[in-house]
Amino acid sequence: MIPELGILRRHGKQYIPDITAPKVPGPFKGRPEISTAAVDEAALADLCPTGAIGKKPVTIDLGKCVMCGACSFAFPEKIKFTSDYKIATNSRDRLIVSEGSSDPIMLDESKIRSEIRSLFGRSLKLREISAGGGNADEGELNACGNPNFDMGRFGIEFLASPRHTDGIVITGPITKNMAAATQICYDAVPSPKLIILAGTDAISGGIFAGSPALDRSFLGRYPVDLYVPGNPPHPLTFVNGVLSLVRKMKG
Ligand code: SF4
Repeated sequence: MIPELGILRRHGKQYIPDITAPKVPGPFKGRPEISTAAVDEAALADLCPTGAIGKKPVTIDLGKCVMCGACSFAFPEKIKFTSDYKIATNSRDRLIVSEGSSDPIMLDESKIRSEIRSLFGRSLKLREISAGGGNADEGELNACGNPNFDMGRFGIEFLASPRHTDGIVITGPITKNMAAATQICYDAVPSPKLIILAGTDAISGGIFAGSPALDRSFLGRYPVDLYVPGNPPHPLTFVNGVLSLVRKMKG
């Protein structure tokens, strides 16, 4: 017992005490801010590999943005990416950031189904479906349960069997080969159930959008409860997004 206590003391606290507040170091790209500076908007939009940049006014669709940084490198006076990782929302429109705005991205409370908070606020079990994902999104979702982010302390966990879960988290652009499996997995989850899209590929198809190898018809059949942008999404984006969906958060 004494040696174990010594190990605990040496290791210190591994988890982030307040998951809503840590600062993200390094070159992380979160919510973009677009200035009102005049630039060649056509040239700006043309350099985006996924068509995420709109014109008049200039906008960035975080559901399409793969965070390559090309726009902010070429037009630093126009676009900068902040370290604000709270960019998940339940409204597809709210993923579109307009020039001149520095507003945080939040959930639309009016769109949250009443049963979500009453049933899942303290316990939410999820099944992850990698529907043609490249392992980056999946790796970050795995990290959500590690000793740092430790989403298990909020009752949020990934489980293997969809029959024991409350919803699905889709990563990847949903390839034809995964379309039927996605439907089967969703059908196996008991109602009421959630659908969460994690990562740009799942939200819009990302760089694969429009490919004949995709079958995204599943998304046309059901409402999406949460969009978690990022390429891949940061664990703080996912955990804070899910918490905002299932619990009433302060601020
Ligand atoms: S960072 Fe996003 S918006 Fe900018 S060029 Fe890359 S994909 Fe397009």
